[in-house]
Amino acid sequence: MDPKTTALLKKALEDEQIRLVTDLKSVARPGAKPGEWETTYPQFEAVETSSHSAQDEEADEVEEYEVRLATERSLENRLLEVTHALERIGTDTYGMCLTCHKPIPPARLQANPAAAYDMECSATDIARGSTA
Ligand SMILES: [Zn+2]
Repeated sequence: MDPKTTALLKKALEDEQIRLVTDLKSVARPGAKPGEWETTYPQFEAVETSSHSAQDEEADEVEEYEVRLATERSLENRLLEVTHALERIGTDTYGMCLTCHKPIPPARLQANPAAAYDMECSATDIARGSTA
């Protein structure tokens, strides 16, 4: 891949990485290990009204927590993909399929700069039930 294209894709990945970390911080805090995030429990304002009891509020918090958990997981997975892609740029293996080591078509990388597989291997992965 030509260095100019790689530089553009690297910039796109870095921008996405910043966005993902910002989004993650709104629902989670950094975990014990690098790259790990822990979903934070929502702290709702204590509103004492007859229509909104403490029990209702607890149910709302649990519901909100489940939404956060799902959001945190998808953001964390995407952040890992982006981070790994940036690592591959650093080691000059970027743009190669992780399975068959053939170059990933530039159009695919432009659509998803974090793509780690070409179409063929990605299709095989989906068939195996992996989401990567
Ligand atoms: Zn492949």
